[in-house]
Amino acid sequence: MDLCDYRQMQTLLTAEGFHFSKAKGQNFLTARWVPERIAEEAGLDARTGVIEIGPGVGCLTEQLALRARKVAAFEVDELLRPVLARTLAPYDNIEVVFGDVMRADLAAEAAARLPGLRPVLCANLPYSITSPVLTKIFEARCFDTATVMIQREVAQRMCAKPGQSDYGAFTLLTQWYAEPELLFTVGPECFMPRPKVTSAVVRMTMRREPPVMAEEKALFRVIRAAFNQRRKTLVNALDGVCGKENARAAVSSCGFPETVRGEALSLADFAALTNVLSQY
Ligand code: SAM
Repeated sequence: MDLCDYRQMQTLLTAEGFHFSKAKGQNFLTARWVPERIAEEAGLDARTGVIEIGPGVGCLTEQLALRARKVAAFEVDELLRPVLARTLAPYDNIEVVFGDVMRADLAAEAAARLPGLRPVLCANLPYSITSPVLTKIFEARCFDTATVMIQREVAQRMCAKPGQSDYGAFTLLTQWYAEPELLFTVGPECFMPRPKVTSAVVRMTMRREPPVMAEEKALFRVIRAAFNQRRKTLVNALDGVCGKENARAAVSSCGFPETVRGEALSLADFAALTNVLSQY
């Protein structure tokens, strides 16, 4: 069976009573080169175990299974159970787990389902849960790499540099946990049904240690305040966190101009600022 052949898949999906759900972010890949390239870029080998989120009809799952020792794929839609039972029948190294990945303990699942293997994550993520699921992947702190297809705008935000218009709190959250790299973009014509947006594949090399020294909660309180009111100067944006006088003193003690805005600061700059503020 060709899992990227839309006619074959449509016939199977209809026969099994499946219907597409927008709420579940169901845009299935129909261009074979895409799952092949994602799996190729995920750096898999015989010692790797993959957690996949949302196998759909299994076109990416199959490519992962051809390259890794084992794939554990989490799918929320029970209507895909009979479909996946048929499409993935030829593979004995795939375990499909039916349930909502947002309720799963990813570190525990990886340890239990991929014992002794190097855990990586790979997925064409449902648009509906992109940010919360990425945060969950970061916080699991169990993956070596995470290679995901997401909306291009989100990918650009994750990989942005200080001063760029898409640089923000989510950029810094991503870069606190990982080194992200935007690999390639994928047009709407590669999916069924076609999404309205362009997608992009990002590979994140997860960090074992944070890249800078700072207390995480305090650091992100400062970062969120800075970007919640991104048109204000940093001193004004931080008023609610530490008071304007402390904000002005900390900004000056870090050597930033008094009129600096959050969007100009790197993660290291925010860490320095947080560390100074923690002394007041
Ligand atoms: N991997 C397939 C592909 O590339 O063609 C399907 C990707 S589709 C964008 C997203 C998949 O995630 C769908 O199969 C959808 O049912 C599933 N999904 C959505 N929300 C989910 C959740 N909370 N937990 C697990 N799977 C979910």
